[in-house]
Amino acid sequence: MERTLSIIKPDAVAKNIIGQIYSRFEEAGFKIVASKMIHLDNYLAGGFYAVHKNRPFYGELIEFMTSGPVMVQVLEGENVVVRHREIMGTTNPKEADSGTIRADFAKSLDENAVHGSDSLENAAIEIEYFFGKDGVFPRTR
Ligand code: UDP
Repeated sequence: MERTLSIIKPDAVAKNIIGQIYSRFEEAGFKIVASKMIHLDNYLAGGFYAVHKNRPFYGELIEFMTSGPVMVQVLEGENVVVRHREIMGTTNPKEADSGTIRADFAKSLDENAVHGSDSLENAAIEIEYFFGKDGVFPRTR
């Protein structure tokens, strides 16, 4: 069973569609095994997106991610890293397949509603970044 980190970004929280996005996770068969709302500060957002530090969009990305609260959750399921990326849709919502979260709810390349870990290795790092070692609740039944 794999785990991945999901973030519902400030644009989607502001649109009041947390529940609609959670429904899509549940319909896909993913289990939510950790969840919290937080308002990222520059330090936390900068640490999370450190790989993008030298990219031209970095400043705007941090400004956007700290503009309002986000929902952060851990999803559990078979092949969940790849399957979650599939139901999210491509980074640019204008290119995303219809029926994906980004095609249906996101406005632009920078304000694109959701984040999902892009590999199993990054998922483990990102889950620990937000939830530490003891913040996840596996479903045994
Ligand atoms: N982003 C942006 N401009 C770009 C590329 C990315 O604003 O040209 C933002 C966008 O919010 C994206 C995030 O930076 O979700 C991280 O980019 P990445 O390439 O890792 O895309 P993702 O894995 O989120 O699809």
